[in-house]
Amino acid sequence: MNLKLIDKNKEKISFLIKDTEAAYVNTVRRLIMEEVPTMAVEEVKFIQNTSALYDEMLALRLGLVVIKTDLKSYNLPGECKCKGKGCAQCETYATLKKIGPGNVYAEDLKFKDPKIKAVYPKTLIVKLGDGQEVNVQCKLILGKGKDHAKFIPGLVYYNAYPKIEILKPTVATDAVKVCPRNVFRVANKKLNVEELEKCDLCMACVESLGKDVISVEGSKKDFIVFVEPWGQLKSQEMIEEAMKELNKKLDEFNSKVKDLK
Ligand SMILES: [Zn+2]
Repeated sequence: MNLKLIDKNKEKISFLIKDTEAAYVNTVRRLIMEEVPTMAVEEVKFIQNTSALYDEMLALRLGLVVIKTDLKSYNLPGECKCKGKGCAQCETYATLKKIGPGNVYAEDLKFKDPKIKAVYPKTLIVKLGDGQEVNVQCKLILGKGKDHAKFIPGLVYYNAYPKIEILKPTVATDAVKVCPRNVFRVANKKLNVEELEKCDLCMACVESLGKDVISVEGSKKDFIVFVEPWGQLKSQEMIEEAMKELNKKLDEFNSKVKDLK
């Protein structure tokens, strides 16, 4: 197996995995989305809610607020020394108190732990009319995407590595226009593949020029993986945590295999 970074910026990372198979890449994708813990509001205690939203709706919206996650300071409740009873290492709190008129934003949450904050401060939670009040206490815990979608750390997807062959020399500027990813350029009156790794195998060029002129195929063993964090964790952290989880699972499997004897 071979790994090569294709692109990395604040919003997303993409890398090439060579000499592997789709099942493995899909395992990586599922591990990142389902097994990497992030922090979110899990319980809401209502002291007052005279807003237009039911308690349940408000609690749901609070659960979806993206929280900067510190995996070093907190444990998953099930893996904590307190055995899930709840302690400072596996849960933290926030309060939210506001009287209308005005909007309640994620930035209005007051966190007990000063290191914790909402990633997008202007996330709208509810609009308050004149005299309407929201006063709640929230409990935040670490959780996994497989238990609730609010814990999913981001979007992960992959494409087969493209292979584009221009079978007949062509001036076809149509391919340049029709390609939504700007893969082609025309230089010296010849069609060239300029940005191969941007191709997502949509086949618009093949449909436009014909199979006898151009061929586009996805590799069966090379894949481009995209990781787009929602903001709780950085893309690098998401991948590293997923690999830790995979190792944990393999260790567990290994020890159970030994017990079979
Ligand atoms: Zn605990």
